[in-house]
Amino acid sequence: MNKPIRSPLPSVDEVLRHETAQAAAARFGRTAVTAQVRRQLEGARAAFARGERGEVQAETVALAALQALEEADQPSQRRVFNLTGTVLHTNLGRAVLPEAAVQAVAEAMRSPTTLEFNLRTGQRGERDDHVRGVVRELTGAEDAVLVNNNAAAALLVLAALAKGKETIVSRGELIEIGGSFRMPAIMASAGTKLVEVGTTNRTHLKDYAEAIGPRTGLLMRVHTSNYIVQGFTKAVPEKELADLARERGVPFVDDLGSGTLVDLARWGLRRERTVQDALRDGADLVTFSGDKLLGGPQAGFIAGRKDLVQRCARHPMKRAVRLDKLRLAALEATLKLYRDPDRLPELLPTLRFFTRSRDELRAVAARLAPGLQRALDRFAPAGWRVETVDYASQIGSGALPLDTLRSAGLACVPLAKRPGKSLDRLAVALRSLPIPVIGRISEDRLVLDLRCLEDEAGFLATVSALDETA
Ligand SMILES: *Cc1c(COP(=O)(O)O)cnc(C)c1O
Repeated sequence: MNKPIRSPLPSVDEVLRHETAQAAAARFGRTAVTAQVRRQLEGARAAFARGERGEVQAETVALAALQALEEADQPSQRRVFNLTGTVLHTNLGRAVLPEAAVQAVAEAMRSPTTLEFNLRTGQRGERDDHVRGVVRELTGAEDAVLVNNNAAAALLVLAALAKGKETIVSRGELIEIGGSFRMPAIMASAGTKLVEVGTTNRTHLKDYAEAIGPRTGLLMRVHTSNYIVQGFTKAVPEKELADLARERGVPFVDDLGSGTLVDLARWGLRRERTVQDALRDGADLVTFSGDKLLGGPQAGFIAGRKDLVQRCARHPMKRAVRLDKLRLAALEATLKLYRDPDRLPELLPTLRFFTRSRDELRAVAARLAPGLQRALDRFAPAGWRVETVDYASQIGSGALPLDTLRSAGLACVPLAKRPGKSLDRLAVALRSLPIPVIGRISEDRLVLDLRCLEDEAGFLATVSALDETA
């Protein structure tokens, strides 16, 4: 009878005694290292059972365990270079926050704060008071309340003001924002009955007038953020809607989507109706996002008539969608920058990205091209040509959907016969870098739009690691 072959594996203790395992234990703790070493040895034993012979050293196992622990230790949410050409990229976290907000958040994280404490009276305060004042000052609204995001703002307004009643909306505005935010679904979950008026392309004032009745709770307008109805169209101006609503005693809510506090035309962008415009045109309430054109943290604003805002603030759902101290700190710091619009492009990254000129970006591209070419030459010798190219970037997040910004960047052009494979391989390699680089593939090239790149040295240092991923 044959003696069974003993697997030539080191013991757990042998591996743990190795200096690599000791170093790993100093970083990740003994428990984690022991568990990982066991897992590695199990894998090796299984390989042996499958017939993969060959000696397994303690050092090899220790190293594999260390690598596995390092990989698991990487933060799951990581910093990336957004070179997609979309400034407010929802999948990449939308707005990059201003330094003032970063400081304010760090401070609020480290210490107890006056989140719900009134220093003057020593009594309980209200968390939204930290931004209520500056929102009123900047927008002219009587009052404001803050929630988790604009979807929550819409939900809370509908639940607080139109539950069990009807909400009138134009058929042309029944939007889906993506990520399953659909206006009709939001209305259903708020318990209000959607009454659609008009048609997809045309809605008249009399359509609204005829729909208003004893069961009407709200008249609502929704900004068609991410699409445009063109051609034979008619939408009722907000002012006329507001007048009709007032005449019939129904509140009028304007969901602005992005909601900007400044006239973007000042910096050569398309003029988007501001929050101030909407309130001046007679909206009783407006809702808008914190992390779109505003350039702040994720948040939702409900601003306008005091009595209506207070009904939202007192609704039980408010507690479920309220902001935490960190985002309130970030929001307060961001909003205060709007007191000095002249310095906004300098201090607010979102606006700074929007306003970078093509000439500036061409210069960035020219500076970075040689370094990227060198990195690609090491990654795949004679495989790629780097070109500086003009692009059109997008605002993103459904803000100004038709507008593009004259931009520039770098194109990685594959020299191989079958570019598809090379492109995918490079895209994967760029995503595997210490700071992942996210571009896009377009017309058989890998495109890096440089509008949102400020850390040029960091970018060059990162791509110089490309050869290691080869
Ligand atoms: C983006 C958007 C929303 C959702 O806002 P979030 O802050 O992403 O929740 C709602 N309505 C409109 C019109 C929008 O453009």
